[in-house]
Amino acid sequence: MLRIKLPIEGPEFSTIYALDNGKETYVVDGGYISERSVNEVKSGLEGMGISISDSKFLLTHHHIDHVGVAIWKKVNAWMHPLEIPFLKLYTDPLYFARPYMEWTRKYGIDMEFIRPLTSLFTAKKAPNSYSTGIKIEVKGKIMPLEDGEKMNGIKIIHTPGHSPGHLCFYLPEAKAMFSGDLVLSVTTTHVGYYPGYSTDPVGDQIKSLEKLLSYEIDTIYPAHEDIIKKPRERIHELIGHYEGRMEEIRSLLDKPAKVVDIASKVAWTTGNFEKLSGWGKVLAISETLAFLKRLVFAGKAKEVETDGVHYFSSV
Ligand SMILES: [Zn+2]
Repeated sequence: MLRIKLPIEGPEFSTIYALDNGKETYVVDGGYISERSVNEVKSGLEGMGISISDSKFLLTHHHIDHVGVAIWKKVNAWMHPLEIPFLKLYTDPLYFARPYMEWTRKYGIDMEFIRPLTSLFTAKKAPNSYSTGIKIEVKGKIMPLEDGEKMNGIKIIHTPGHSPGHLCFYLPEAKAMFSGDLVLSVTTTHVGYYPGYSTDPVGDQIKSLEKLLSYEIDTIYPAHEDIIKKPRERIHELIGHYEGRMEEIRSLLDKPAKVVDIASKVAWTTGNFEKLSGWGKVLAISETLAFLKRLVFAGKAKEVETDGVHYFSSV
């Protein structure tokens, strides 16, 4: 187990797990995307006698704090096919600018709210040495990995929600589940509605959590926070959290309102909407949208378009 400190708002560190059967080494996740973090991963693994070029990297998803090694180093890495296109975020961020602009227009989100996002698309150099606006190539060889496949006894489980192709990795003999960001020990994983993502990420997330319940698990090894010794309890807690949030958002619906107006009334665990940071607001807005979409799918909310802008109301 290797903990890599994160230079971002959010989790304190990313945890990487190396699994060695004496013949082969599998490494779950690849750390943060900065070159500095990548070198930390490389030297940390070397300290355990593991060479990154001989290892097989199993990546839970495409987010910035999970794919570092595969971006900067010539390693062999596997991801769910739905995740691979999102690596373009790091090589050609402008590619994503247009869908995001459409997204803000469609849901009537003021540009000021998504400035933290748009700055990623246009900045020559963003903080934390994450280069954007500059094309870089993905150095690793990225190969697809589907639900139900096995890699030397490691079972691959597709668990969408937090991202469309999020994967968990299960070791049956050890009854160990490597849960990526799906199950964390303290915080509840962000589930947002973004361009290119599933149209029902909250529904996906709840189904993914339920899917984990069908496995015999002694220990969950998450990508952040602490190892989880009471897996079923934690999974049920998380399902309860998402269902509670859904009811809360449903209770806020009345006459047609825009997503930002609804998001500003939610009792966020990180604080009042007005007091959230720029990034916090982006997450709160896209999370509210994800729950609204779930409610619409379930027939518990209505989405109506007026002058090109989408509003949500009770049914
Ligand atoms: Zn993460």
